[in-house]
Amino acid sequence: MSWEENVRKVIPYTPGEQPKIKNIIKLNTNENPYPPAPAVEEALRNMDADAFRKYPDPGCSRLVNAIADFYKVDKDNVFVGVGSDDVLSMAFLTFFNSNKPVLFPDITYSFYDVWAQLYRIPYEQIPLKSDFTIEPSDYFRENGGIVIANPNAPTGVELSLSAIEEIVKRNPDVVVIVDEAYVDFGGESALPLIDKYDNLLVVQTFSKSRSMAGMRIGYAFGSKKLIGYLSDAKFSFNSYTMNMPSLELGALAIEDRDYFEKTRSMIIKTRERTKEELSKLGFVFADSKTNFIFAMHPDRPGKELFEYLRQHDIIVRRFDLPRISEYLRISIGTDEEMDTLISVLKEII
Ligand code: PMP
Repeated sequence: MSWEENVRKVIPYTPGEQPKIKNIIKLNTNENPYPPAPAVEEALRNMDADAFRKYPDPGCSRLVNAIADFYKVDKDNVFVGVGSDDVLSMAFLTFFNSNKPVLFPDITYSFYDVWAQLYRIPYEQIPLKSDFTIEPSDYFRENGGIVIANPNAPTGVELSLSAIEEIVKRNPDVVVIVDEAYVDFGGESALPLIDKYDNLLVVQTFSKSRSMAGMRIGYAFGSKKLIGYLSDAKFSFNSYTMNMPSLELGALAIEDRDYFEKTRSMIIKTRERTKEELSKLGFVFADSKTNFIFAMHPDRPGKELFEYLRQHDIIVRRFDLPRISEYLRISIGTDEEMDTLISVLKEII
């Protein structure tokens, strides 16, 4: 008998690389190429470090109220966490507590199976169709919960709101999590459904459309009852998940609606232009509603393209997993960065 037998072992999630090298074009972790809203930098400069002597507000009211105002919901419908990873992890822990399997697609955010393994939650990965779309009826069966990233990652493909609603409606006995990390780049949010279905949790993040991946702010919407259970789990785990700067800076970011609208439409425009350029080079990809394009080239192995880009100081993401190992997930950067990407790809194709 060794102490190691009783260790909670898990194979961890591998985050995308954060290289130390400067002047690299970083298109591998779907970060936003534009800075956060101007008020964020100003507030950061004027921050009083003496305030850090005290604990932050455990109820996170400044940030929760700003989110509730922006989305026109009640503050009791909002939960915040340390990035949506923290929110999702807490939701898995809170809501998936049955012997029946939790269902999610085979190709999706690769953290879901890690949390399921960590918490010993049984799960089943449902294959996406060959065009990477979800068949809603695959989720009309007995289960212990459902998680759908919408739009999905790393495919970029959106499932219609009516299909999402059908899945939620057919599963009143379990919690359905809709992970909307990328919804602001052209998807349709399931937020309006939370009043109708008390078993729906909609999760979003500041990491993509609000340019604050480094601040670690995520949030979720749900019925008052659902958010109450999530809060009980959070307060049984760590009262102070959110630090003082993220509460203040997150609120300032969300209050600047114009900047948010401006930067997200710039990214959408750049994405659409990049799609055209990639198509001209012979790349194939499903239509992306996110800030990345998941593309493959019929004549060039994914690994070769990945390494070629890397040699030219451009990092994209490639998953060495069944069905998708030939694909590159290319985050949308600035117009200039995408022009460089296209010209480097032209050299090899
Ligand atoms: N969900 C999906 C689908 C993602 O791609 C990511 C980003 N890796 C996350 C959630 C987590 O993002 P964050 O913790 O930065 O909010």
